[in-house]
Amino acid sequence: MKLPGTDFSMLGPQSKAFLNDVHTLRIGGERYTATGGMLDVIDPSSNTVVSRVPDASAADVDAAVAAARQALTSPAWRGMRPYQRADAMIRLASLLEANSQELAEIETINSGRLIGNTRLFDVEFSAHVLRYMAGWATKLEGKTIDISAPYVPDGDFFSFTTREPIGVVAGITPWNVPLCQAVWKLAPALAAGCTVVLKPAQQTPLTALRLADLALEAGFPPGVVNIVTGSGAGAGAALVAHPGVDKISFTGSTAVGRLIARQAAGSFRKYNLELGGKSPVILMDDARLDDAIPGAAWAIFGNHGQNCCAGSRLYVHERIFDQVVEGVCEIARSIRLGPGLDPASQMGPLVSRAQQERVLSYVEAGRRAGATVLTGDAPVDSDGCYVRPTVLVDTDESMSVVREEIFGPVLVAMPFHDEEEALARANSSDYGLGASIWTRDISRVHRFVRGLAAGNVWVNIHNVLDAALPFGGFKDSGVGQDLGEESVLAHTRTKAAVVRL
Ligand code: NAD
Repeated sequence: MKLPGTDFSMLGPQSKAFLNDVHTLRIGGERYTATGGMLDVIDPSSNTVVSRVPDASAADVDAAVAAARQALTSPAWRGMRPYQRADAMIRLASLLEANSQELAEIETINSGRLIGNTRLFDVEFSAHVLRYMAGWATKLEGKTIDISAPYVPDGDFFSFTTREPIGVVAGITPWNVPLCQAVWKLAPALAAGCTVVLKPAQQTPLTALRLADLALEAGFPPGVVNIVTGSGAGAGAALVAHPGVDKISFTGSTAVGRLIARQAAGSFRKYNLELGGKSPVILMDDARLDDAIPGAAWAIFGNHGQNCCAGSRLYVHERIFDQVVEGVCEIARSIRLGPGLDPASQMGPLVSRAQQERVLSYVEAGRRAGATVLTGDAPVDSDGCYVRPTVLVDTDESMSVVREEIFGPVLVAMPFHDEEEALARANSSDYGLGASIWTRDISRVHRFVRGLAAGNVWVNIHNVLDAALPFGGFKDSGVGQDLGEESVLAHTRTKAAVVRL
């Protein structure tokens, strides 16, 4: 039976009105009419246009950066005391929650993801992150340092450090958890007293526009939060190249991250890059399989595999390999596909036709290289961008399907003989974002935590993130961290002062 697209009668009146709005950029607290053209916003459950947003030009980006620069030193923002910044952030968190239904609906229509997921991560987790980060606004401290300066024999000094906001931050985000990513960029920057120009992914620009409206309502002065919608090659590249930007905070692919690092190096601008992953899930033969089998399945199928930490490489001890793979396949076959707004759906469409084609082409490349597709290769009868949960075996690290990030619901499962082999194969990737180990042996847990080359390691669970935990990747998975104290400090610069007494 053909899968239906979104049932728009399920949308609330605010969401309908927002989709029908004539969208503008948000610059300097104003609705700003862009000089560029417009971009279609698609509902991937049916591939239909649901809204249109401006495709910001370099001149529009220039206006946004100018507004952010002006706001940075304005009395309205610089004069706000730390507790007042914190209060505004807490008000913004409450406004996200008060508008939860609308934000979740818009995100679901635009990204294809399940409404329960957009509510939990894009709205509720974002509110949690804002509240956590608000606490840092009043806790940014320097040190007093008793310096020696031996070459000034008669010197008597008082010396200290201060932390200042790093300046204008360019936030550039991907489409997989759009509002959540926007808030991860915004919250530490605001806590530190920076101003922001945010460019959301061209596929999912809508909730960022609402976020800017809510930020104004929460009391952030005009120009502190600016949004430019547009393409990566257009607005994104113009933002990265702009000399008025002090720091680039990017989440997206490793390829674009590398471009940004090169460009930022030329002018010594600061950056943090949260990039791709190919995260291993390792099941030892003493794992509790009642937890580990569904854990491994949802590590890859959660958020339709469009997750930077997706557990896309499953390594299973050879003694339990067949049992685990059969269990994961059974879960894969039982997952009900459908539009994200339908509460009966367990997996929605991928974000776009391009992403669907990319994911399917990886499965085909795996098959051509000798992999066996155990489940997932039946086509889906739909106008939407669906890919079935897919499991491949007979794979190894020479294949693109094992080496490269697919960013879809595609799992490769491989047996291993012993701990040493599991660790070596898990670490054989260019990426190093996440990894999980499933075992009941506490010594083994610590050997893996120590040995895994990944920025985030989980034991008997996969992909638990928290506002208080720094989140970042090793190797090609990035530079720096989002979340936690680390992300706030990375939005400050340290000044050392010496006073001669
Ligand atoms: P992408 O790199 O294509 O795009 C990310 C953002 O960069 C978008 O806003 C895009 O418009 C912009 N962009 C593209 N080209 C640009 C350029 N030349 N200059 C400036 N900006 C440019 O990535 P995507 O396809 O949107 O997202 C998927 C990728 O994001 C995956 O690789 C995934 O692993 C990664 N990701 C990483 C994390 C993390 O925290 N490590 C989280 C989510 C997603």
